[in-house]
Amino acid sequence: MRHVEIAGAGFAGMTAAIAFAQRGWSVRLHERAAEPRAFGAGIFIWENGLRVLKAVGALEVAMQNMHEAPNYWARDQHGGIVGEYFFGPEAGTRMITMTRQNLHMALLDAALKSGVELQCNSEAIGADPSGVLHMADGRALEADLVVATDGVNSKVRDSLGLRVTREQVGHGAVRLLLRRTEEEVNSIEGNAVIFNRDAGTRRLLQVPCDKENLYLCFSTSAADEAGRQLPVRKDVWTQSFPHLRALLERVGEQGRFDLFEVSKLDSWSKGRVAIVGDAAHSMTPALGQGAGCAMMNALSLATHVSAGTDLEYGLRNWESLERPLTEHTQDYALQLTLGSVAASAGGTKWTPEAMRTAVHVPTGSVGNPSEQKETQACM
Ligand SMILES: Cc1cc2nc3c(=O)[nH]c(=O)nc-3n(C[C@H](O)[C@H](O)[C@H](O)COP(=O)(O)OP(=O)(O)OC[C@H]3O[C@@H](n4cnc5c(N)ncnc54)[C@H](O)[C@@H]3O)c2cc1C
Repeated sequence: MRHVEIAGAGFAGMTAAIAFAQRGWSVRLHERAAEPRAFGAGIFIWENGLRVLKAVGALEVAMQNMHEAPNYWARDQHGGIVGEYFFGPEAGTRMITMTRQNLHMALLDAALKSGVELQCNSEAIGADPSGVLHMADGRALEADLVVATDGVNSKVRDSLGLRVTREQVGHGAVRLLLRRTEEEVNSIEGNAVIFNRDAGTRRLLQVPCDKENLYLCFSTSAADEAGRQLPVRKDVWTQSFPHLRALLERVGEQGRFDLFEVSKLDSWSKGRVAIVGDAAHSMTPALGQGAGCAMMNALSLATHVSAGTDLEYGLRNWESLERPLTEHTQDYALQLTLGSVAASAGGTKWTPEAMRTAVHVPTGSVGNPSEQKETQACM
């Protein structure tokens, strides 16, 4: 039995842990916090992410508390609709939204059921390419493979001496949850995902997540002091979006502000250490795909390195086959964030190029061509 030590129990770490356990590895998953929990508010999961969740056995639980919006509206600062999009089978992807906590709990449930050993209060401080994970309490844990999924400020990645490019893109967002009103639950507008855009840098995204929760994402330029302030400045945001006055009145003290960052590495692995998720490929949230890519790359990592006994060959294959789609997603999302895809200003954000990741069939999920070949070979 091969053994993997994984640092960081976020969406990437949890998915990797389950996928390795499903392939017969013994798995220890370390989380620095006292308990595994998701920060942020709501999250979009597209068909690619749903396929990963199905493959790791977390889909059914995740879908018990979610929202499938019938439509997506782009609105100008006065509330005028400048674009309307529909998702579903004809578009090749559903647009599913839920709270982060719901997604996290579904993955945790599947991880524990698949025999993953989870250690909380367990902080990784670095790794050795020979396959050793170093912990803050002095332990040096040997493994066939170490996986760094400790997020954008990854200590494990930084200990490896890889060349890391981290680009602060000059934008960020405040995210929070509100309780949905009965009127919202029962109206067409209250069930749509709505992207409001003012003439400057302010964007306000309204996202129903389930029957109770409405996720609001206030994004703006990092230089917009008033727009990024916490608690949210209702006066300032009402000035940008007067038609949302009543909604903004309901916002309280809650929320957190995060800056967007795009990170790239010269290699996704070094020796027996692989880096996955925001630690390797963080992106701006314009396509709602950071966690989608993190989960796809975690599942495909387990698939590639479990396919044979040559670990380094598996790691090379993994990166060369999976990285192009992730980089396309990072680059396209960045262009949308910076407004340099001309179409994003009007209403045609969801072009086929924008949707390429969402409709992808991830390696390791049912329906992926390599999986079909594997199945045929077994028959
Ligand atoms: C405003 C905003 C909106 C977004 N919206 C979406 C969306 O709609 N859809 C989508 O797919 N993505 C979205 N994303 C991106 C998504 O949140 C991230 O890509 C995703 O959370 C990355 O998951 P991860 O597991 O790699 O890292 P993280 O979620 O950061 O998890 C890292 C984990 O490692 C733990 N950890 C950290 N350091 C250590 C250590 N040294 N030792 C042990 N444990 C450690 C942390 O406590 C944490 O649990 C959004 C991002 C932002 C900023």
